[in-house]
Amino acid sequence: MKDNIEAFLDLVKERNGHEPEFLQAVEEVAETVIPYIVQHDIYYGKNILLRMVEPERLISFRVSWVDDSGEIQVNRGYRVQMNSAIGPYKGGLRFHPTVNASILKFLAFEQVFKNSLTTLPMGGGKGGSDFDPKGKSDNEIMRFCHAFMSELFRYIGPNTDVPAGDIGVGGREIGFLFGMYKKLRNEFTGVLTGKGQSWGGSLIRPEATGYGTVYFAKSMLETKGDSIKGKKVTVSGSGNVAQYAAEKILDLGGKVLTLSDSSGYIYDEDGIDRAKLAYVMELKNEKRGRISEYIEAYPKAKFVKGKTPWEVKCDVAMPCATQNELNGEDAKMLLDNGCMCVSEGANMPSTKEAVHTFQKARILYAPGKASNAGGVATSGLEMSQNSLRLKWSRKEVDNKLKDIMSDIHKSCLEYGKDEDGYIDYVRGANIAGFVKVADAMLAQGIV
Ligand code: NDP
Repeated sequence: MKDNIEAFLDLVKERNGHEPEFLQAVEEVAETVIPYIVQHDIYYGKNILLRMVEPERLISFRVSWVDDSGEIQVNRGYRVQMNSAIGPYKGGLRFHPTVNASILKFLAFEQVFKNSLTTLPMGGGKGGSDFDPKGKSDNEIMRFCHAFMSELFRYIGPNTDVPAGDIGVGGREIGFLFGMYKKLRNEFTGVLTGKGQSWGGSLIRPEATGYGTVYFAKSMLETKGDSIKGKKVTVSGSGNVAQYAAEKILDLGGKVLTLSDSSGYIYDEDGIDRAKLAYVMELKNEKRGRISEYIEAYPKAKFVKGKTPWEVKCDVAMPCATQNELNGEDAKMLLDNGCMCVSEGANMPSTKEAVHTFQKARILYAPGKASNAGGVATSGLEMSQNSLRLKWSRKEVDNKLKDIMSDIHKSCLEYGKDEDGYIDYVRGANIAGFVKVADAMLAQGIV
């Protein structure tokens, strides 16, 4: 088995050797899916996984725009259309200076499995730009988004590819992107998700990734007869996912101890309650400030510069910032401090060493492709509402989100439960996600 996995990874490395994040994501899937393929004749010998690691299409384009001082700026835009076997490409757009083909290919690859897990008909894609929104005026953001869409519009559409937000792309950016798409195509369609409430957006979409991550943690804890109530939770990030994860933790009676951004983390021993969270939401979403400003408003809390929150004692950890933000050392620290459950809101936030450390300790550990799938699932619900030209209530969407997260948890149990009762959520999510896509690819022939 080891030989099969190594031979496959050697081939992928040969072609993508300069893409470390992509290789990391592929390796994690190969380790669990190849043993399954070898045991199942219908998949064996068909090079299914080899086909799945090659994007159906990778588009890269120039984005030129003019900043407020009249300077011409040039960024690079991308869209990775990874797999459309079970539906139109679907996945977010990321605007961050670190964006490159490796990061977007890893995200698009993970997205294929995640979207399959939601049970909704969505293929996988991801896109974005190395544009840095930090410190830019609203007008600069608008000009950049318009320039970005003036090229991307050729490749997307409600039945082809439906992008959404990700790091650096929230409601404001989706608005500007949608405006340009609508102008160029002269049609009002559900081509993006995460839209505003008055123009086709779904209720609960902004909340969905964070809420879903907590719903998944709840399901995991229930397998041990436990709950979120009374649990001390460390959360990283302070953007969209982190904010709504914190809100749902509070709803379910947990205590949120930390939030962070790329400059460090804040630790509030008394807990970040609703009033404090409202302050953070205004600080980050309206004033576009830094998390360190929290201690000016709440001086009892402390700001730890340049570090991540994993050194803080907790019962549950929810990494909700970015990839590889939790390494092997952090994982050991979490375990030493008694952490029993990790539910990932971000995509691939734990390094390979961290994942293996959690698995070895047999704690409850959910990879992002399962636990953060609530965001794209609710995007799928937004697409359905757009097609039906109607709008479901907050309660209806939240109930559907809860059902989907619970079904994803069940799928993980189906393929990830060991004889001794331990649940390997990585194996469960990877195989459950793989089977549906692989079956569709086999049915559609070699295309
Ligand atoms: P936001 O842009 O709203 O927030 C990102 C947060 O992460 C910010 O606090 C940001 O801090 C922090 N961050 C970004 N890069 C780094 C870094 N290199 N080191 C430390 N902190 C960093 O993005 P989202 O909340 O939407 O996304 C967060 C994660 O969740 C990402 O991994 C994303 O792929 C994933 N995700 C998002 C979904 C969604 O629906 N939005 C769906 C599924 C997954 P700073 O402001 O300093 O950059």
